[in-house]
This record gives sequence, C-alpha cells and structure tokens, in this order.
Amino acid sequence: MPIVAQSTTEADWVSRFADEVIAEADRRAPGKPVVVASGLSPSGPIHLGNLREVMTPHLVADEIRRRGREVVHILSWDDYDRFRKVPAGIDPSWAEHIGKPLTSVPAPAGSEYSSWAEHFKAPMIAALAELGIEYRGISQTEQYTAGAYREQILFAMRERAQIDAVLDRYRTKAKPGAKAAPKQQQKPVDEAEIEAAEGSGAADEDDGSTGGAGYFPYKPYCSVCDRDLTTVTAYDDETTELTYSCVCGHQETVKLSEHNRGKLVWKVDWPMRWAYEGVIFEPSGVDHSSPGSSFVVGGQIVREIFGGEQPIGPMYAFVGISGMAKMSSSKGGVPIPADALEIMEAPLLRWLYARRRPNQSFKIAFDQEIQRLYDEWDALERKIADGSAQAADAAAYSRATRTADRELPRTPRPLSYRTLASVVDITTGDEQQTLRILRDLDPGNPVTSLDETRPRLDRAQAWITTHVPADQRTRVRDEPDTELLGSLGEAERGSLRLLLEGLDDHWSLDGLTAHVYAVPKIQAGLPLDAKPTPELKVAQRTFFALLYRLLVGRDTGPRLPTLLLAVGAERVRKLLAP
Ligand SMILES: [Zn+2]
Repeated sequence: MPIVAQSTTEADWVSRFADEVIAEADRRAPGKPVVVASGLSPSGPIHLGNLREVMTPHLVADEIRRRGREVVHILSWDDYDRFRKVPAGIDPSWAEHIGKPLTSVPAPAGSEYSSWAEHFKAPMIAALAELGIEYRGISQTEQYTAGAYREQILFAMRERAQIDAVLDRYRTKAKPGAKAAPKQQQKPVDEAEIEAAEGSGAADEDDGSTGGAGYFPYKPYCSVCDRDLTTVTAYDDETTELTYSCVCGHQETVKLSEHNRGKLVWKVDWPMRWAYEGVIFEPSGVDHSSPGSSFVVGGQIVREIFGGEQPIGPMYAFVGISGMAKMSSSKGGVPIPADALEIMEAPLLRWLYARRRPNQSFKIAFDQEIQRLYDEWDALERKIADGSAQAADAAAYSRATRTADRELPRTPRPLSYRTLASVVDITTGDEQQTLRILRDLDPGNPVTSLDETRPRLDRAQAWITTHVPADQRTRVRDEPDTELLGSLGEAERGSLRLLLEGLDDHWSLDGLTAHVYAVPKIQAGLPLDAKPTPELKVAQRTFFALLYRLLVGRDTGPRLPTLLLAVGAERVRKLLAP
C-alpha cells in the first residue's frame, strides 16, 4: 500500500514533529482527531514566505494521516482583522477604509471579488489546491459575526483584570533596555525580502489597553462607520451592557450578549482560539516569537485565563527569494505562491519546504538557480528509482510528490528543465519547432507529443519569458558573421569543417555532446578516448567560445548540443561554413 507511515529510522523533521504531536494529542484529548492550525491574514498579497505558515502544519498533518490517525488542519483566515494601511499602488482614497474589517473593505479597483479579503485569499486558495494541501478554512468574519465566540468574549470581559495583569508583565519587560530578542538570524538583503519577512503584521497589533474606564480586551466595530476607532467607555458584567464611542462621533450602548460586530484584541483572540479549537500544533513566524510577542503572551493567557494549553509551536525561519529583485518594481511586490507555481511544478515547491527544518531559512529561486535546483531534483528522482537515496532524502521526496490521499500530478516525461528552458528560449515558444527539437534529443526514443513533457515544459517557458532578462535571452544569428569567419586561421577553419562533417551522424543530444568534445581531440591528433589534459581543455573551451560567437554572437549560451539541435542542421551549416 502506498499510504504507509515512514519507518522510524527515516526520522526526518516531519516525522519527529508527528511523534510529538500525536503524543500531546493523546495526553490532551485522547480519542479525538488531532488538530493542527495555520493562520493567514488577507491584508494584502499573501507572500511566498507566508506559505511556510501553511506548509509546516500540512506536512505534519499529512504524516499523521499516513499513520492512519484522524487529523484536522484548520486554516484560519484572519479576515476580521482591521485594514491597517493603504499599500503602495492602491488608490489613496482607500484610506477612508482604514479601521474596517478586511471583509468590509472594497477589493482593489478592477477586481472580480466582493472584498479586499476575498481578493487576496483567492490566489492563495488556488495555490493550496494545486499544492495538494487539504484544510478546513475558517473565516474569522463568519465566526465573529455569527456569535460563535460569544461565551469566550463574555468570559474574557469578566476576566479582563486578569488578562490585563498578564499583559502587564510583558508590557514592563518589553520596555527599552530589556535584552534584545533572539529574532531573525539573518538580515534580509533587500527591500522585497524585508516586506516578505513582515508576515501578516498581526504580531504588532495593540493589546487593547485603554485609559479612563480601564482595560477591555474587546473592540467593537462602529455601527455607523464600521471602523474600530472606538473606545469602550463602560461595561456592566451583570447586564453585559457595553458603551462605546467612536471618533466619527457615534456613541451607543449595546448588549454584548447579543452583539456580533467586534472582536477580541489579537493577543487574546489567538489564545482564545487555541482553547476553542483544541489546537495541538501551530507554528509561527519569527515576528511572533520574541519576549512579549503574541505567541509568548498567548501561552500565558491560554493557561491562566482560558484553562487551555499552548500548541506545540516551532518558530519557522524566513523564506527568501532570489532573482525577484529586478522584477519586483514592475510586478509591484514580492512573489506569491502562484508566481512560484508558474515556473515550477507543485512537487518541486513542496520539496523546498519539506527538505528543510522549519528553523532553517532558504531561498526560492526565480533566477538561473532554478535550473540547478531542477537538476538536483532530477538526480534525487534517479536515486529514488535505483534505491540509492538516503532515508531523509527519500522521506522529503515522498512528502513532495504525494499526500496521504493522492499522488500529485507529474510530467509524464520529465526532460531536463535546463534543456527545456534552452529550447523554448531559442524557439520563443514555437510549438512545431519545439517538438522537432525535443524529438531530436533522443532519436531512439523520440518525444512524440509536447504533452508528454508538460506541465514542466510550460513552467520552463514561463520562467524564460517572465524571469530571464532580455539581454540574457539567446538570439540565434540570422546571417553568418562573415567578418569573424574571414579572420579565422587554418586550424579554426579545420575544426569547423570537422564539426560539420560529423553533424548528421551525431544528431542527438548524446551524439552531439560526444562530437563537440571530440573535434578538438581529433585536431590535436589524440585518440577519442584521450584523457582531458590542461591543453586539451583550453582547446575545447576556445572551440566552444568560437561556436557561440558564430551561432549567437556571444561567448556563452545554452549547452552546445542543445543549442545545435535547436538551431537545426541546415542553419548550423549556414552559420558555421568556413
Ligand atoms: Zn464610527
């Protein structure tokens, strides 16, 4: 059966967390489904870095499911949070919505969605589906406005002095002069990364302290202007009558036992939900983990106020991006998961998260590095196939390519990403030309339809067209470089003649690879199996540089065998005829 737990000898980080979570679940809530949780705020684009918030519990939940245990992965959409600021690129008139719940703010102009929150949730929901991530989505707007947390809110209001006392411990500790938090290990290197590192922004939300009438952990949204620029001025525990005033001038008294238009402040809201849902595992980003932060304070509040327990909550490190800096100004920000899924298949993206422990940072490549990453992935697949992969690598591969329930879609014939990228670079996506070249790669077992090579082919094409700058694209010369050809010496002309004479006999990827290396050997009077000497290496490099100059007018380019196949024999002859 494919749905089999990893053996304990393959204890990768996911397995170890699964062990720990199951043991805690058995202790805290025996016989009940294990609950793991993620939280996302759709306050703006949900960045690729935030995917770790979902991927970490997903992998652990999936391992638990593989072991035959019932598990629920809750994804809490923090869409009842307030709209904090108008992001760059949005009409400044959206400032009038600051303070409203994200579900009450209109979507950016031109959006098909009904609200700001729905607009930014939608691409994440699509990406999670493509990644094979199963979860139970919970809209906090729906929960609060349906009165789901009524008991918890009334309880928190009764316990407000206690809550205030807990918060106060950290208020003092967090004063300047306190020891610096062991925060981010590595410094973000550019602006896009800093933005990605900020995460949902919920971490720095205020904790509800007010003056005058005392401390209240509940903040109403004003019934007139819908903003949370309100101050609770009185509360009666007996009648639950709550009076608030708003900066818009509105003032009213509501019965909190019937009121569904407000929420607990973040530092109370989060632990309340840990207890409410019985969450056993919920990781959080670095911004939540410093002393006085919501995770630390939440741990005290859930224990001392709500009588619950804090989840096992590893801090996950920062996920960076390489190669998007140039694109970010034109694309208006850091990439979201959908951007990564345009240039890489879902199993590869899952693998990047699965193979690193949550406390290790890593980068997702949008630059040339993606080709090396795919080479590494293909090498791992070969090791899996011949049984030589290390246990931890095999575990990461298994988590990347399938879930407990299903295999993720894969490319039937996964040709090298590097080769595919070079081919679509040269053909600029022309399907007939692409098919001709892919067929020629291995004449003994030719590609017969482009669909065999999809979706990897489409991902490579998207990468070439959206992330490779124009000056790095390959442009095959239309006409021979007669000036350069005319300046060549006899030896160089001889090497070109040798190459052209053997072209037809070697017209495949392997054949041309052997042939381009053989030409300098033949010229030097060496046997074809001669070991490379420093002199021979220089001769080969010089020969390759000459071919690049004559074919694409630069000193480098795609790998030569791929380039020759892509240019086609006829055009190669035209451009290289000495
Ligand atoms: Zn108001």
